Amino acid sequence: MTDGAPPYVGRFAPSPTGPLHAGSVVAALASWLDARAHGGRWLLRIEDIDPPREQPGAAEQIIGTLERLGMVPDEPVVFQSMRLPEHLAAIDTLHAAGLVYRCSCSRRDIRLRLAELGRLAPDETAGESGPPYPGTCRNGPTRTREHYTLRYRVDDRVVAWADRPAGHARGARQLETLAETCGDFPLRRADGLISYQLAVVVDDGAAGVTDIVRGSDLVSSTARQHDLADHLGLPRPRTLHVPVLTDTRGRKLSKQTGAPAVLADGDVATRIGVLNDALGQLGLTPVVAATLAGWQEGAVSRWRGSAWQQR
Ligand code: GLU
Repeated sequence: MTDGAPPYVGRFAPSPTGPLHAGSVVAALASWLDARAHGGRWLLRIEDIDPPREQPGAAEQIIGTLERLGMVPDEPVVFQSMRLPEHLAAIDTLHAAGLVYRCSCSRRDIRLRLAELGRLAPDETAGESGPPYPGTCRNGPTRTREHYTLRYRVDDRVVAWADRPAGHARGARQLETLAETCGDFPLRRADGLISYQLAVVVDDGAAGVTDIVRGSDLVSSTARQHDLADHLGLPRPRTLHVPVLTDTRGRKLSKQTGAPAVLADGDVATRIGVLNDALGQLGLTPVVAATLAGWQEGAVSRWRGSAWQQR
């Protein structure tokens, strides 16, 4: 690095909702290759902050599969659930800046309010891709509850960002006004769980992550994360979103859609086969090698010579 920028730090940050599948191996490999191709460090963070969605043993399975595929983090694995004090401190910081408020709305309340405003048919679901939160509790909770959701107050500013490599087709500039796309979003749910959006920003910031390489299903979260980083005084990491694998019905591969587990517990040739499948999904040709180390060398050089590497 010659431009005085901080040294490259990348990461893979799976949620332990099940073992890795072909799609998550692609995301893991892309982040690993990019880190190695830049001579950077590669970290692994298990995002275990949503227990109802987690599967016992999945974290250990994920760590084991990655290791058998030659992806060994450069620092001890971070378990996000251990970082609650830092997440709460970040909420305090945002609160002190007037950016957090207590909200008493249930999902049903939000749905009814949106329907009342004519923004949602009564049987339509509000949610991630639905209309923005209608702002019901912006001036204070409308009901008394034992526990409140803590919501982040967004504004009308345009969050502009672009995937690396800038100027490449994939690097098209994105402009998003959070008030129009998602509205005020939760930082902590009423049941006490910290939101993914907040935790990912705080933990990437603490680890000094400079480059996020992950599946394109997370493009829609990026503006929210950059906005939070800006308000927490954290540098925005560069991002690179790689294609996600879909099933024959066009749904993202996931445990919920029955994607088969990749355990990579076969011999070296089988594991190299798994890696070459993932490489193929990234548009790169297979590497013929007899050892994992040989495969890695070839794959890093493929990545370096590809459009992914430009920056
Ligand atoms: N934990 C998130 C997931 O598994 C990914 C986080 C990220 O890469 O930003 O979908």
